[in-house]
Amino acid sequence: MTMIPQKILIIDDDIDVCDLISSTAADLGVDCTVTTDAETFLSALTPDITLIMLDLVMPETDGIQILRQLGERQCRAGIVLMSGMSKRVLETAEALTRTLGLTIAGHLTKPFRIKELEAIITLCAEPDFPARAEVEVVSFKVDELWRAIEREEFVLHYQPQIQIPTNQLVGIEALVRWQHPSHGLIYPNDFIEYAEEFDLIDPLTWIVIKRSLSEMGSLKDQTGSPITLSINLSVLSLGDLAFPDKFILIADDHGVAPENVMFEITESGLIRELSRTLDVLTRLRMKKVKLSIDDFGTGYSMMQQLIHIPANQLKIDKSFVMNLQNDSDRIMVEKTIEIGHELAMTVVAEGVETREQLDFLRKRNCDVAQGYLFTKPLPKCEFLTWFEDFSASQVLNKSALR
Ligand code: C2E
Ligand code: MG
Ligand code: MG
Repeated sequence: MTMIPQKILIIDDDIDVCDLISSTAADLGVDCTVTTDAETFLSALTPDITLIMLDLVMPETDGIQILRQLGERQCRAGIVLMSGMSKRVLETAEALTRTLGLTIAGHLTKPFRIKELEAIITLCAEPDFPARAEVEVVSFKVDELWRAIEREEFVLHYQPQIQIPTNQLVGIEALVRWQHPSHGLIYPNDFIEYAEEFDLIDPLTWIVIKRSLSEMGSLKDQTGSPITLSINLSVLSLGDLAFPDKFILIADDHGVAPENVMFEITESGLIRELSRTLDVLTRLRMKKVKLSIDDFGTGYSMMQQLIHIPANQLKIDKSFVMNLQNDSDRIMVEKTIEIGHELAMTVVAEGVETREQLDFLRKRNCDVAQGYLFTKPLPKCEFLTWFEDFSASQVLNKSALR
């Protein structure tokens, strides 16, 4: 990946704060542009900006209005929110930032110390800083995606789902990647939306379904019990009333029992299309296929709506799991586990990266964990090697306990 030099853009009506940031950035050898009003800020916002330092409280256009504009422009820079307001206001603004699809790089409570500022600027200069990794924007045309579907230029990666109390593998999620002939591997967030927009999602979905059933449909654990295969489904595919019958035929062809497959559908999609999809969801459940509400917490579902979705599983969005240090995110996780259990659903936490997060989830009785702590999603062969090692370590642990 090409290294892109860091470029900071500041907006703060307090010129002393601007001076402090720009002199600290200069000491660290980082290029920095200072603005004190929204208009100048937006005209200075070029695609090479990697970090934005944004004051929330400003007299004319405030930070929240600017966040909205950044969301509309699909800004890929990391954002540091600055304010003298309470921690709760900052946390709410952070949550808003995430729902706008923007990347939070941190926050600074005013008055802040130079050391805190230096820490944030230095952290954002790390090569794996998310905003910088995403700066390489891939663009392609619809006919390329169409050709990719015709030629089935896709690979699936698999990520394990581990039952927290027993440390057993209970499921695997299939995640699609586009093996582009010149751009290399393209991740789903960069093409699923296009596929939906250009009516190509159905053929793509069937490629994923058939491939995952044939690669992983008959995976079993050491005791011979089948492992649930989770497949992500666009809510648009649920518009087809014949979808459940078509799926059952294909599952049958692959010798996979419907109860061993779980379809994951995003909460936001479900809520948007609930009245148009309840029939297909119900038919799928009648055929014993399992359903999971993915990215839970990001779609503003109401209790009445949630109760009507015949799902077996709630998947807490990773943005909450990864920010457990924030009171609001922690409460969201705790309450989701409670609500899920009240509705007799299994609760899965995605994005589990640390042992501390896993310990927290265990104490709160979360059922299943998925995340880099166990492994990143892996291509078929690497996944099977991981699975063998994992199963062997399970056997060793059991015999050590005897
Ligand atoms: P998702 O279904 O919520 O999948 C979880 C995403 O979180 C995956 O990203 C996974 O790689 C990532 N992830 C898992 N554990 C961790 C962790 O510990 N830390 C971090 N930072 N990330 C983690 P991925 O593979 O890029 O997929 C993004 C989204 O694309 C998926 O979110 C899903 O909504 C969609 N998607 C993937 N495959 C398909 C598909 O076949 N069909 C459809 N319609 N959507 C798909
Ligand atoms: Mg998913
Ligand atoms: Mg998810």
